[in-house]
Amino acid sequence: MLHIPCPHCGTRDQSEFSHHGEAYITRPENPKALSDAEWGDYVFFRKNTKGDYAELWMHRHGCRKFFHLLRNSVSDEIYGSCKIGESNEETIATIVKANMQSSVKASMKPSIREKS
Ligand SMILES: [Zn+2]
Repeated sequence: MLHIPCPHCGTRDQSEFSHHGEAYITRPENPKALSDAEWGDYVFFRKNTKGDYAELWMHRHGCRKFFHLLRNSVSDEIYGSCKIGESNEETIATIVKANMQSSVKASMKPSIREKS
């Protein structure tokens, strides 16, 4: 069982949350301009990353807000979470690297550091 750090409410049991897949999937600006194959890629295909991974979660039985969770899909180690709009793929990579260096981890903002 995972303990998920909601950036709005704090750490709660996984059963309060719903997983919504890969983070940072952006809808194409002009879907009608896409071929069927391109639209199919957007709708159905994801990276299915093995390792460090940014995911979209919702605190279903809490604040009901979406947020990004940084997790290793192999070990289930959770690096932290971010409110929507507070991060992008570049900052996620920085956070993951920072978590691998414990001295940097201590200086991270509380909202993106896993609460234990
Ligand atoms: Zn919450």
